[in-house]
Amino acid sequence: MADKIKMAVSWAAACGGCDVSVLDTESHLLALAELADIVYWPVAMDFKREGFEKLAPGSVDIGIFNGAVRTSEQSEDARMFREKCKLLVAYGSCACFGGIPGLANQSDREGIFEEAYQDTLSTENPDRLRPQTEWVVAGHTLTLPAFFDTVQTLSQQVKVDVLLPGCPPPTERIADLLEVVAGYAETGALPPTGTVVASSKALCDSCPRGDSRCAGRMAKILRPHEVRADPKLCFLNQGILCMGIATRGGCGATCIQANMPCRGCFGPTPEMLDPGAEAISAIGSLAGAANENDVPPNEMKRAVRSIRDPAGTFYRFTLPSALLNRAVSDKPGKEES
Ligand code: SF4
Ligand code: SF4
Repeated sequence: MADKIKMAVSWAAACGGCDVSVLDTESHLLALAELADIVYWPVAMDFKREGFEKLAPGSVDIGIFNGAVRTSEQSEDARMFREKCKLLVAYGSCACFGGIPGLANQSDREGIFEEAYQDTLSTENPDRLRPQTEWVVAGHTLTLPAFFDTVQTLSQQVKVDVLLPGCPPPTERIADLLEVVAGYAETGALPPTGTVVASSKALCDSCPRGDSRCAGRMAKILRPHEVRADPKLCFLNQGILCMGIATRGGCGATCIQANMPCRGCFGPTPEMLDPGAEAISAIGSLAGAANENDVPPNEMKRAVRSIRDPAGTFYRFTLPSALLNRAVSDKPGKEES
């Protein structure tokens, strides 16, 4: 392929961190500029949606889409990217698995509106007004995108060719994605559909603390701020929940290096059906003292119930893509003392 490839970048339900991570690649960004002409990236450059809409189907080589799909406009963008782009990349954990916005699936549209427009302490809304998709003012009709009941991943909306996980994706994996792009620019051959730019093994496999894993049992569960973690010892052995057991490696273990447990942003390994269920199962097998007589009968039960936010702990980045999606109640029962 002699000419530069054409590339489009856009976001949906996202925080902007993914766009910043592309800019943060420094020298890789220059390599990208050698390979590709950006034809659409409204967050970073002055492109208009109308201009992108006019492009012919399949006329863009690579589409980079970050963020989950929450609104009708984002859904239209996802379909437009699929139509215009030969290779579609789900960039970042929100696009790949639903990410942090996906935790909203513990509630629904009405529940979220009730909280945001009624129940918060700073809200005064006696007429119970809610956002409308159409509103007429002085003879002009104003419109807003519809707010869906459920957050979806990009691949729940359209076919996705390549997934690059991470919150946001680290520079090393962005460089890998650029190699995929360079390979395409050189040969015109698309990578296999569903290619994931990450390790196929769990993070524990490459974790610098991996050797110390499972040397002991978890007799209680601590939150990271409740203890000064030993920087050499596996977090699980210190009673701190770590999702590295149920998460793909390839992130560079940056959280672990900063003495914080893995939160699971790289999503499940290929064999795992559901990362949260896998983590719960693995942690369940570690829970308790080596000799069960050493722990009073209800102590472990109480320890497990002390997990303040189970959905946010086990499905922080993956709820919309999890088997448990939508089966989770947002009304936890009263905790036993
Ligand atoms: S994956 Fe993380 S950095 Fe990217 S948009 Fe989602 S929350 Fe932001
Ligand atoms: S559980 Fe966490 S700290 Fe322990 S080896 Fe795995 S990734 Fe490392």
